[in-house]
Amino acid sequence: MTGNQVTTSDYSMLINGELLDADTSIDVVNPATGKVLSTAPDCTKEQLDYAVQSARSAFKQWKNTSASERSALLCKASAIIKQHADKLALLLTQEQGKSLNEALFEIQGSAAWVEAVSTLEIPVTVNVDDESRLSETHHVPLGVVAGISPWNFPVLLSFWKIAPALAAGNCLILKPSPFTPLTMLKIAALLRDVFPPGVLNIISGGDALGPTLTAHEGINKISFTGSTETGKRVMRSASGRLARVTLELGGNDAAVVLPGANLERAATPLAWGAFRNTGQVCINAKRIYVHEADYDVFVKHFVAAVQALTVGPADTGADLGPVQNERQYRRVLDLLADCSQNGYEVLTGGEVDEAQDGYFIPLTVIGNPPKDSRIVQEEPFGPIVPVLKYTDIDSLIDDINDSEFALAGSVWGEDLELAQSLARQMETGTVWINEIQQLSPFEAFAGHKQSGLGVENGLDGLLEYTVPKTLTINKQAYSN
Ligand code: NAD
Repeated sequence: MTGNQVTTSDYSMLINGELLDADTSIDVVNPATGKVLSTAPDCTKEQLDYAVQSARSAFKQWKNTSASERSALLCKASAIIKQHADKLALLLTQEQGKSLNEALFEIQGSAAWVEAVSTLEIPVTVNVDDESRLSETHHVPLGVVAGISPWNFPVLLSFWKIAPALAAGNCLILKPSPFTPLTMLKIAALLRDVFPPGVLNIISGGDALGPTLTAHEGINKISFTGSTETGKRVMRSASGRLARVTLELGGNDAAVVLPGANLERAATPLAWGAFRNTGQVCINAKRIYVHEADYDVFVKHFVAAVQALTVGPADTGADLGPVQNERQYRRVLDLLADCSQNGYEVLTGGEVDEAQDGYFIPLTVIGNPPKDSRIVQEEPFGPIVPVLKYTDIDSLIDDINDSEFALAGSVWGEDLELAQSLARQMETGTVWINEIQQLSPFEAFAGHKQSGLGVENGLDGLLEYTVPKTLTINKQAYSN
């Protein structure tokens, strides 16, 4: 079997070390204009089979390479990405909508992440080592991993999968979102000769490709980042053959401003923490709770900090760009309409010029909506955030934990004892105190409840790409 269709276009898939087109393509839209930017191959079933078969075949050798050989190749990949960072960032801006600064941050951050992951070491546990027995538990790779990434951080979240999967000795087929495949396809071409053919495959396609990939018999593990609803579908698809899954899903992170906090100092990082990437970050602050005594003063500082952020096309130098795609744009408009129909207070923003090119929505802050309102209960994943009043900490904890989302959260204030006590009671995978969105390749990141299953990053994240294997020796079997 072969992948056919050797490439003639700007963007090709990487399968078995070959750059391949497909019979048909999907349109990729620039969200700042609403116009088609370019096209990407729409991977056929035959090409997917070819990718899985070549990954399975490459795995036979790749799993036997040493960790240091794999680490050296990952560092080489990282260096190539760094070398091409400026061009890649420009392309990322065009397909994703984020500012050039943020795109560069994502590309350079991805390169740094790959390098950092390559330094992690998988330990061997010696269970017993005495005169009679040796027992050791090793961690061995799983086989072929399918990596599926979303459109908000198309490059970084892809490398969160590529780096640990390959470092642990697996082969991988990465499928970026159909909304943002181009930068990863460009990276595929740049990395073509770094890894042996079949070790890293990058494919693109429309809505049908994800389910076909996760249902493929040749996939041993699925590492998925995206919405909770899709995550459940992925898990159902994997269950028939007990393929392993890691799911990083949606969030509705609470940020709590403690009584007595320096309100002005908390407002600026929280404005960025709520609206970063135009509100399209799984770990953005999505509901901000402020003590009723501090509410008015906090809102004044917060609204001023939000109004200091500019929104527009990247070439205007704006801090924030459009919503990434029309589907998400319509979803945020629907939430805005719900706020307006219910008469919730709009503290800033709210008015959308739908005649404008691109999917631009002004940064919008909603004042103290009811706790059961859609804007508080749902994940908007766009530039709209509610600020809510609370009166006492105990009922606040109940409100925060009354959610199926449990990704992360933050607490702001000088009383670190109270902050830590609250942080311990928040049912989420991560809590930041007086900071937000701090992630590291050396720290576990895991969604609780319906925000995820399993863990990414750190040694725990690396081990998700392995399975324990215990080896024992009876040292006395032939001693007499
Ligand atoms: P999505 O679930 O619509 O799509 C994510 C990916 O899954 C895309 O590549 C898509 O093509 C693919 N896909 C769609 N249906 C599939 C199926 N049935 N089987 C297999 N794959 C399928 O999510 P999105 O809209 O791209 O991203 C936004 C969501 O992602 C938000 O909910 C956000 O909170 C979440 N997210 C979570 C994290 C995290 O680390 N927890 C990070 C970023 C984004």
